Formats: sequence, structure tokens, C-alpha cells
Amino acid sequence: MSTELRNISFHGIGTPNGPEREPGEHRYWVTEQAFLDVLDECAKHPQVRLSFDDGNASDVTIALPALAERGLTADFFPIADRIGDPESVNEDGLRALTAAGMTVGTHGAGHRPWTSALAAHHDAELRTARTRIAEATGRPVDTAACPFGAYDRHVLKALRAAGYRTVFTSDARPAREGAWLQPRYSVEAQDTAETVRTRMLTPRSLSGRMVDRGVLTMKAWR
Ligand SMILES: [Zn+2]
Repeated sequence: MSTELRNISFHGIGTPNGPEREPGEHRYWVTEQAFLDVLDECAKHPQVRLSFDDGNASDVTIALPALAERGLTADFFPIADRIGDPESVNEDGLRALTAAGMTVGTHGAGHRPWTSALAAHHDAELRTARTRIAEATGRPVDTAACPFGAYDRHVLKALRAAGYRTVFTSDARPAREGAWLQPRYSVEAQDTAETVRTRMLTPRSLSGRMVDRGVLTMKAWR
């Protein structure tokens, strides 16, 4: 049986510079101190895998040095159309991430939910964005994180057809090592090391595991 993992995802760290880019975005920003506390907690749990969505500038200014200091690695999922804008990671930053052993995947082109965006923007979201990020990092991109955690069977089929090796969602459930679809827990503004431990790192009961499996199967086949 494969190892159970806990994928934990962050968005912005510190204080956002401007208004929300999407309604509710600031709910996912954490203070630098909360981030460091949560990171120290995560470092104690070998089953944790870390990721960072949206390509905020704090990926490089705050997360990268904190990860390196702790000997941790993570997956980063920037938004292709935002690379180099004033609030976001730029090409030098993306190269600094890969040079430090981090993996850079794609979070699409324009931060649109793929459940509705792929009909009109399939190529931009799944192909052009991936090429743009790969050119910026100088590495192939073979992992994707669904914007807003939104997916259905059509999205998953499109991602499989595009050849992505691993796809990350935001289903707040444990994951299996090596599985193509990786549910993640999202750290939110009010989280602390304590809430992350109780909400994301406690062992699941047998009945909880059965619910996890049922819910994820249902979501993938909607
Ligand atoms: Zn996002």
C-alpha cells in the first residue's frame, strides 16, 4: 500500500500590497510569523508535501529562504499571465526557485477556474501557460494545480490528454504517494501551527478514509 501524504498549500505570505485580485483572495494570505510557525510544524512531519499557488512575489522573498533554511523543498504553481507583474514572481525568481531544488508547475494562464474556462481557453490555459513557465524556468513543466481547486471529469480528462504527470487540487483530504491526483489542504489567514496540526496532520480514522475515497471518486466523475 502506498504511503499516505498530506499536501499543504500556501498562497500569499505577509501583507498584500493591493486590493484582492479575486473576491476572497486575502482569506488565504498568512502573516510571515504564522507562515514560519506552520513551516516549523510541517518540518516535523515527514509525510507533508508543501506547495505555493498563485506565484506571489512572497514565494521568492519569504518562502524560498525559509524553506532553504530548513532544508525543505516545495512545488510552486505560478500564474503564467502574472509572471513579472509588480506583485508576482518574475523570471529571475522562477529560476532562483528551480536552482534551489524547488519544482515549478503551472496554475494556468489567467487564474480562471478550469471547469468553466477550458471551453474557450483550453490552449491558453493548458498549453501556452505551460510553455511560458517552462521557458522562464528552463525546465519542463509536468505538474499542474487547478485554479481555485476547481475540477470535474472534463478538466481531468483534458489534463491527462495534455500529459501532466501530477495534478493538485484543494480537497482538504489526505493523498497517496505517487497518485496522479493529489488533494491538498489550504492554509488560511487564521491558521496557526496548532490549527494546521489538528486540521491537516492528525491521522484519519478508517471511516474517515472511506469517506475520503467516496468523495474524491464522486468529484472526479461529476
Ligand atoms: Zn490560485
